[in-house]
Amino acid sequence: MVVSAPTQTGKGGGTMGDRVWIKDPIAVLADGAERGVVVEDGKIAELVGKGAEPVNAVHKVFDAARHVVTPGLINTHHHMFQTLTRAHPAAINKELFPWLQALFPIWAKNVNPENFRLATRLALTELMMSGCTTASDHQYLYPPGLDEAMDIQAEEAGKLGIRMTLTRGSLNLTEEEGGNANSGAVQDTDTILADCERVIGRYHDASEGAMLQVALAPCAPFNVTKRLMVETAALAERCNCHMHTHLAETRDEIDYCMAHFGYRPVDYLEEVGWMNDRVWLAHGIHFNDDEVVRLGKAGVGVSHCPTSNMVLASGQCRTKELEAAGSPVGLGVDGSASNDNSNLIEAVRHALMIGRLTYNAESVTHLDAFRWGTSGSAACLGRKDIGTIAVGKQADLSFYSLDELRFSGAGDPLAALVLCGAYKADRVMVKGNWKIEDGAPVGVDLAELRYEHGRVAKAFLETV
Ligand SMILES: [Zn+2]
Repeated sequence: MVVSAPTQTGKGGGTMGDRVWIKDPIAVLADGAERGVVVEDGKIAELVGKGAEPVNAVHKVFDAARHVVTPGLINTHHHMFQTLTRAHPAAINKELFPWLQALFPIWAKNVNPENFRLATRLALTELMMSGCTTASDHQYLYPPGLDEAMDIQAEEAGKLGIRMTLTRGSLNLTEEEGGNANSGAVQDTDTILADCERVIGRYHDASEGAMLQVALAPCAPFNVTKRLMVETAALAERCNCHMHTHLAETRDEIDYCMAHFGYRPVDYLEEVGWMNDRVWLAHGIHFNDDEVVRLGKAGVGVSHCPTSNMVLASGQCRTKELEAAGSPVGLGVDGSASNDNSNLIEAVRHALMIGRLTYNAESVTHLDAFRWGTSGSAACLGRKDIGTIAVGKQADLSFYSLDELRFSGAGDPLAALVLCGAYKADRVMVKGNWKIEDGAPVGVDLAELRYEHGRVAKAFLETV
């Protein structure tokens, strides 16, 4: 082994032009990388197997002896503005429909560019501190003045250095028109489609290693018009981007759909041209056997949101059957008012727990839960360059220490992260650059962020 520079990382220091050996971790979630990985130019250049050393000279060594290393976690469903209404007195202890009815007027009245920016910053920071390296945010709320929501999110993701799929949501049916949105939160169809096209043109980067991509995301098929669903699918195909929506989250939704339309949500999805592998669905809980097969055959992905599903008593996702049928299954923290946090490694633990309740202890392992939070999530977002630790993949890595009391006595290090309950990463690397060091995001004043976000969130409590 040749090391031509001292061992160091530096504040936020990257690896461009350098070959850095992440050496001898406690464990790594990859085959044949017992002695770590070599990172070069933002990618994984080499896996170093048991008893081996890097084949080519390295310039730096990062001693990972305190760390368990996983692929960076990938979040496939969120609503970041909801950090402003966590544990809101008007909405706690309710299921989805009454929860939405309580919160929609509060959101529509209060969300503005300033608090939306702080909500995005806070949620992205929380996600990254939990080990997340790629985020997405289903941003469907567009009250007057928030036309530049996607631009704000692109800026915030860029500043923090996290990858993001900007998920341009939409709502165009109010309660009076048969939807469930407050009239202050909707836009007309032409405005929505024009902004989708603008956002794609400005931010959608389909190339390998992209830091920003765009997906199109009507809130749910039943709070937007059929025309918007159909035209969104056509636009996504034309611009080569993915599509996202909520589907089959609650029994109430199935009942509503049967009562108003006479068919089930998956049938409607098929009718509007959404049964294809550009699509990933949030929740995807209440599917029958036939629907699971049809979704799998079409390659439709499902974002499993275990924490939200338990908090809102929505039900249990059929993760194993969906995967067996051919659907990618990813993980999402879901909105911060139904979680009520943005902690993705916690969602990995919750996925294991609810999965065991749904199936049994042997059928759902910690490796299943990690797969959903990494490669499964990457597949939902349509990305082949992230989600696994392998040569040629992006160097997006999360490092967890086992130093806390909760891990003492643990045998299997990877299982310990899930079973003992890891909740924060000690270090996070995105595209070969350190973004979390010693448990803290590089360049972010956490106390100031907490203060500013808390300050703007107060208005949401005054409108009940
Ligand atoms: Zn959601």
